Amino acid sequence: TYVVTDNCIMCKYTDCVEVCPVDCFYEGENTLVIHPDECIDCGVCEPECPADAIRPDTEPDMDSWVEFNRKYSELW
Ligand code: SF4
Repeated sequence: TYVVTDNCIMCKYTDCVEVCPVDCFYEGENTLVIHPDECIDCGVCEPECPADAIRPDTEPDMDSWVEFNRKYSELW
């Protein structure tokens, strides 16, 4: 899965949301999140992010970001 990380906070671009083929972005007041179970790992959103906030969970130390994205995508 891909997840949104801290560079997304206060970012006003939503290019990532527009390109996602499965609509798995959820929008809060100050950040977006990706539902980790709905993301199909296509990678299309990553280069669209001007803040470099979207990262694959295969990078080191991503567990807490996966949990953050899961928690808020279910709340929003
Ligand atoms: Fe959506 Fe693909 Fe990005 Fe996952 S990797 S959030 S499916 S655009």
